[in-house]
Amino acid sequence: MTMALVQQNTLDLIGNTPLVLLKGPSEAAGCEIWGKCEFANPGASVKDRAALWIIRDAEARGELKPGGTVVEGTAGNTGIGIALVANARGYKTVIVMPDNQSKEKMDTLRALGAELVLVPPTKFADPAHFVHTSRRLAEETPGAVWANQFDNVANRKAHIESTAPEIWQQLEGRIDGFTCAAGTGGTIAGVGLGLKAFDENVRIALTDPHGAALYSYYATGELKAEGSSVAEGIGQGRITANLEGAPIDTQFRVSDEEGLEWVARLLREEGLCLGLSSGINVAGAVELGRQLVAEGRKDARVATILCDTGFRYLSTLYNADWLRAKGLPVFPWLA
Ligand code: PMP
Repeated sequence: MTMALVQQNTLDLIGNTPLVLLKGPSEAAGCEIWGKCEFANPGASVKDRAALWIIRDAEARGELKPGGTVVEGTAGNTGIGIALVANARGYKTVIVMPDNQSKEKMDTLRALGAELVLVPPTKFADPAHFVHTSRRLAEETPGAVWANQFDNVANRKAHIESTAPEIWQQLEGRIDGFTCAAGTGGTIAGVGLGLKAFDENVRIALTDPHGAALYSYYATGELKAEGSSVAEGIGQGRITANLEGAPIDTQFRVSDEEGLEWVARLLREEGLCLGLSSGINVAGAVELGRQLVAEGRKDARVATILCDTGFRYLSTLYNADWLRAKGLPVFPWLA
């Protein structure tokens, strides 16, 4: 498999990520499990794609002009992606986040040149919530646009137009299943729609963490959450605009413990250092693979997303005290 390794423009480094065959998960499933290496993007996560598409869309609509500002309410990977893309396009970035977020996140965003606006954590219905604050700030700032990743469908378009065709080409047009978890839902909906456009028989599965409402929604039609999860970036309680019409054929619910087991195995056995949402995705991909094999499809091929780098979680997932405080198993080599 080859890929273009020479680019004329740093923004062209976003996407065209490698796809890798995962040995342990493939053995566990009894079929091929492939991981899309989104940690290989410049901002080290899948959200670089959404950031690029959202900013290009705002430019194309004439809303974002030279010297303008991109505003978003986010504590994580989306802010990092927006800050990098905005720098490359000559825009300012303003990120609104709750003041209870980790110091590393604040330091990272500041290091990239974003202006941080910290607000007290509060419930979504409160107008002072960081998402509403970011929308108001965008409205009040001349030349600013609100990225609005949850309900701006430029987010899922990134995956319809880039992630899905890349996976299709990398697997040479033979893929049986795809699964990942949802934060905004841009990835699962976009890759799902994109792959179905190539082959409507590709089975699209939502893999939900505990504490999110989508597993129940796709299983029974009712948005209902059970339990909780420490996974960052995933777990959704409503049908965002990005999730509307997502072609979900089946759904799995995966615990943090199961996700962490794959995070540990992928690091120790295959040399991949990932975040927890990747581990949860891999657990879902193994379930989807087993389901296809049980139906007699012994040569099934399943793909999932390796969302971000584990280096982003050194003080949490890779910290024994933090894991113990959360009641989670500690990786043997940290104990
Ligand atoms: N994993 C991580 C680490 C993320 O930051 C995100 C983005 N929220 C996701 C998974 C889910 O992606 P999406 O927003 O496209 O559903």
